[in-house]
Amino acid sequence: MAELRLDALHKIHPNGVVALRGLDLAVHHGELVVLVGPSGCGKTTVLRLVAGLEEPTRGRVWIEGRDVTALPPQERDVAMVFQSYALYPHKSVRDNLAFGLRMRRLAREDIARRVEGVAATLGLAELLERRPAQLSGGQRQRVALGRAMVREPKAFLLDEPLSNLDARLRAETRAELGRLHRRLAATMLYVTHDQEEAMTLADRLVVLRDGAVQQVGAPLAVHDRPANAFVAAFLGAPAMNLLPGEREGSGGLVRGRGFRVQPAPQQAPRTLWVGVRPVHVALGPPGSGEADARIELVEPLGSSVLVHVRLAGEGETVRVLLGAGARLPRLGEAVGLRLPVQCLHWFDARDGRRIGP
Ligand code: ADP
Ligand code: MG
Repeated sequence: MAELRLDALHKIHPNGVVALRGLDLAVHHGELVVLVGPSGCGKTTVLRLVAGLEEPTRGRVWIEGRDVTALPPQERDVAMVFQSYALYPHKSVRDNLAFGLRMRRLAREDIARRVEGVAATLGLAELLERRPAQLSGGQRQRVALGRAMVREPKAFLLDEPLSNLDARLRAETRAELGRLHRRLAATMLYVTHDQEEAMTLADRLVVLRDGAVQQVGAPLAVHDRPANAFVAAFLGAPAMNLLPGEREGSGGLVRGRGFRVQPAPQQAPRTLWVGVRPVHVALGPPGSGEADARIELVEPLGSSVLVHVRLAGEGETVRVLLGAGARLPRLGEAVGLRLPVQCLHWFDARDGRRIGP
């Protein structure tokens, strides 16, 4: 397995769409890096540039210390797994797995050995004679992955490989992929728009927006200390609450519609966003906390309850996540909200950047 390095990648499409604006990224040997971001932010473009399916407008791609920017896909030795598995419908699983190797004229015994080995690893040994139509979505996904594995590539590029699976299978396959990654110690660049997938699978996470990197880091580090309001709102479910507020006086008091909190960090500007995760907001009697609100919606989620409240004075809606044992509030009930200062995140309202620690 190998290291991938992307240097100042720009991609401007002929129609003028800027897909990437100066992307720098390294995926270390054996590392699983997840690129996450909303639809259209440039994730697939990154993979296509690494695979050689597209040329960058500027910048370079390195694989294992070698500049491959000008090399065609077949000379890069990376394997891509697409969202649509693109299996050959009329070939058996065995032939789907073997096809690429046959094209490369590997010896018959080598092909058989690799196909059997990968089939055993992925739990496909019993399914080798079936056709794709006779497989479940999860099994098809494994064949697609297996087809990449038999090539023994320097790195795997995976483009939303689980997005065609239903929720339960997606969670199972996700865990399986994580185990497989550790077992193979494979270098993987994995793309998803699903932040849960990103959080659970990544050694490191790269949050992308409009073709530019917003933040890189270990998933929990990014989650706990988002670099800006975009990352804060994107990562974490249910999403972080972001409330517009203004500093008042010199004591660090911040006031918005329906709430007041303090103290803001020393260097806070006048206008800011106060961020608080739903799990950190507590409900109490009216007048008991930093905000007064009314219950707008109660959504029991099974092991927790998501409550939407409206801050007093036509303020923002705030999401509050309660544990399963909590008393269910009534619709329309007046409540107080505790917004514990040690759980607050502060962002500059002008550019969204994180303020303070
Ligand atoms: P993602 O995978 O994050 O959803 P993509 O990398 O597919 O995003 O696309 C990034 C941006 O580039 C989008 O705005 C998309 O519409 C645009 N784009 C992608 N491919 C082309 C193309 N061949 N021609 C023009 N624009 C494209
Ligand atoms: Mg895509």
